[in-house]
Amino acid sequence: MRVPFLDLSAQYGGLREEILVAIDRLGSQAHFTLGAEVEAFEREFAAFSGLPFAIAVNSGTSALHLALLAAGVGPGDEVVTTANTFIATIEAIHYTGARAVFADIDPRTTNLDPRLAERAITPRTRALLPVHLYGRSAEMDAFADVASRHGLALVEDACQAHGASYHNRPVGSFSLAAAFSFYPTKNLGACGEGGALLTADPAVAERARSLRNHGQSGRYAYERLGYNYRMEAFQAGVLRVKLRWLAEWNAYRRRIADLYRAKLAGARLEMPADDPETRPVYHAFAVYVDDRDSVKEKLAEREVETAIYYPQPLHLQKACAPLGYAPGSLPATERACARVLCLPISPELSLEQAEYVAECVREIVGKM
Ligand SMILES: *Cc1c(COP(=O)(O)O)cnc(C)c1O
Repeated sequence: MRVPFLDLSAQYGGLREEILVAIDRLGSQAHFTLGAEVEAFEREFAAFSGLPFAIAVNSGTSALHLALLAAGVGPGDEVVTTANTFIATIEAIHYTGARAVFADIDPRTTNLDPRLAERAITPRTRALLPVHLYGRSAEMDAFADVASRHGLALVEDACQAHGASYHNRPVGSFSLAAAFSFYPTKNLGACGEGGALLTADPAVAERARSLRNHGQSGRYAYERLGYNYRMEAFQAGVLRVKLRWLAEWNAYRRRIADLYRAKLAGARLEMPADDPETRPVYHAFAVYVDDRDSVKEKLAEREVETAIYYPQPLHLQKACAPLGYAPGSLPATERACARVLCLPISPELSLEQAEYVAECVREIVGKM
């Protein structure tokens, strides 16, 4: 049985008529950037996420940049974050002129460990930036506690966590601002690029709206120098169509995760702990195995496509060499990256395919 890791053309095929109607409507109205369609998407995404304000932008990276600016992060500051993430987390810190400081992950969750993040705080630290990796919330009550005790801003990288919650509170509600990505492979993906910042703070919302559109405060009135981070109306039209399915898609991802957890129990691998207080949305389902590359290859021989998020932790990437981290400095992160393997999980994956994946993994890795 052939199992692709993702099948985005199948997702498009199922929604094609509605998407084409939306694009044709916007094209006919010559409605191309920001405007009523983007505002409607912002209201709907904020309502879905349980937060008062959404500010739509052109990528998750832009959303992260604006979230850090909202937190007052600037040149000379430090931001404590994880190296077990996508490079954009670090790029956004770099754009502000601040420096990324890495703390290790909690191997139980593979998210930034709030206790180790606290130890990385220096007099220059301005903000904490946990990432909800694979759609599983970081320990946000602990981060909120550390941030308030040290007088730091808290910002969330929720680019993989649309609709996730922690202690029955939505991600994004624990911090000053949270960044989401609508890159096509994310749980909610545009037909192109997109992102959004969520906040409960009206001043943060207003400033982000201005900054995404050249710092404009009124027509041709510029309060500050900003950016062109505007969302395209076509993408808002596509996202509005897909948003109606997101709750169902996330529930289906959880169903596949439960299937994997049940079928892989007792196999020679580790799975993320299943905490009742976190409600992940399974952007990815990661397992940890010895001999990861050979397991990946054997799965490929059985036509099961897998992915590695991320093969090399950021602190050991050439781009991050100026930050000065050596191998061995973040042992839990390095071990996770050496052993992680992400199994297919998506709304387009059938339960039969998921069963087949689990069977193949079981046979290949053997039992404990
Ligand atoms: C996808 C992603 C981003 C960046 O989003 P873009 O829309 O690609 O700019 C940032 N952080 C994490 C953790 C991501 O997965």
